[in-house]
Amino acid sequence: MSTSVATPLVHPKTPLSAHQIAQQQFDRIADRLGLDQATRDLLRSPKRELQFLIPVQMDDGTHRVFRGVRVQHNDARGPFKGGVRLSPRGDVDDVRALAMWMTWKTAIADLPLGGAKGWIDVDPSSLSHHEQERLVRGWVRQIAGSLGPDIDVPAPDMASSGQHMAWMLDEFESIHGSRSPGFITGKPLSLGGSAGRVEATGYGVITVLELMLNKLGLDVRGVTASVQGFGNVAQHAIRRFIALGGTVSAVSSWDLKEGRAYTYERAKGVDVDQLLRITDEYGSIDMVRAIELGYQVLPADAWLTRPVDVLIPAATENQITGRNAGEIHCQVRLVVEGANGPTTPDADAVLAERRILVVPDVLANAGGVTASYFEQVQSNTGHYWSREDVMSTLGESMQRAFRQIVETSEREAVSLRDAAYMIGVGRVAEASRLRGWV
Ligand code: NAD
Repeated sequence: MSTSVATPLVHPKTPLSAHQIAQQQFDRIADRLGLDQATRDLLRSPKRELQFLIPVQMDDGTHRVFRGVRVQHNDARGPFKGGVRLSPRGDVDDVRALAMWMTWKTAIADLPLGGAKGWIDVDPSSLSHHEQERLVRGWVRQIAGSLGPDIDVPAPDMASSGQHMAWMLDEFESIHGSRSPGFITGKPLSLGGSAGRVEATGYGVITVLELMLNKLGLDVRGVTASVQGFGNVAQHAIRRFIALGGTVSAVSSWDLKEGRAYTYERAKGVDVDQLLRITDEYGSIDMVRAIELGYQVLPADAWLTRPVDVLIPAATENQITGRNAGEIHCQVRLVVEGANGPTTPDADAVLAERRILVVPDVLANAGGVTASYFEQVQSNTGHYWSREDVMSTLGESMQRAFRQIVETSEREAVSLRDAAYMIGVGRVAEASRLRGWV
């Protein structure tokens, strides 16, 4: 394979798309690793993209047609793996970036999996549960031949839940006429899901945060944090951080009614259970009730400027940018990326200059896909593990990846992100070479 892939021309002032950012990050590492042209061409673009329409009958008998996407980036190390996002924001380019980051992430965690990402262009809060069911079943139906336990294994991502995974599993099994629980992860326990999967990503975020604090000679007790997002990743990360003795003074979330984000701050720290009671299934906090509970409502970006030790972006990509990175408070020592791609390369440069360490997404949120892999193993063998076994194996896996990245970062004198990419890209390049693809 030696076809050269043209780099799109971008005006210097045009903000880069998430995919261009992912490619820029890849190119830098490819140079460092001295990858040949064929390997670069293979790894800097998706292997396959499926774009399709999903017609859905609505509850009132009318029809609507939604856009569905599955980007399969690379499967040299094992079946494609990645979540399915339900969101009216973003585009196919974002999905390409997210699929590529999944490839590096599974390799960094040393899982026998590749990388993929799915998307349905929809605001799920505008649909009834029955309409959502028909929609996600339609996503599976359109591409059922390109999915499967040994081909491509979906999972939850933004706004998709265990219930969506259950409907998708049922659709896949109905099409194939057999039970294959290993087709999907993030399933409810009663359908062969794994104990610990729901909280695994947030748990992993705090595991690496604690490891990094220890490396800096700090104890998590007394450390303060501000978090962007209040969905699956953020809720479980905050719960564990507080359980370990940390304080979260601010969280931000997307207000579905107003179509914009707000930050909610409480000096004595947020109370997760209390906030959960006023948060809907999409992670949108009820502003009126938050004010009644003593939270101060601040603008969207305020989570970034709080006087805290740690920032945890756990909402979406491109949030810490060259434009706002300078506004981060001087007290901040660490950014731990719960979300995928929350920090742009120009923000990375500002943070490096300000000596704020960034624990990259491909390590920090790898707990989710690692627990998903454990779920696949359990589903495919029919032997189920206890929550303790899942969490302790997950902890060991995160520690191993953390040690390898820190060691590479120190040896090569590069950032943690570059070190993680060197490991991930290197492993995928090797697998591709061994298969004779390049
Ligand atoms: P989610 O849908 O459960 O929650 C998203 C949260 O972010 C919601 O609270 C929403 O209100 C908030 N949000 C969205 N846009 C915002 C904005 N501009 N400002 C402030 N808040 C905003 O999603 P999730 O599963 O928690 O995923 C969050 C991020 O973590 C995504 O980048 C996702 O790809 C990544 N991730 C998720 C998992 C997982 O297991 N769920 C694993 C790895 C990575």
